[in-house]
Amino acid sequence: MKSVKIIEDACIGCGACEAIVDDVFKLNDDGISTVIIDEVPEELEEDVRDAAESCPTEAIAIEEDN
Ligand code: SF4
Repeated sequence: MKSVKIIEDACIGCGACEAIVDDVFKLNDDGISTVIIDEVPEELEEDVRDAAESCPTEAIAIEEDN
């Protein structure tokens, strides 16, 4: 996994991603999720994938390594 980002226009601020992996996602003051780390450590990749699958609006975009 190369990186993960939030498609801000799609995020509805439900908090599911932060609940699953709060080392990576955090809701900002506007109630939108933000990614708080530059690179996803290997041990968190599975949690990030779980979060992406759990996001009701598919607002979590994972970029894979080539
Ligand atoms: Fe936003 Fe999706 Fe995270 Fe919910 S799970 S806060 S909609 S990115």
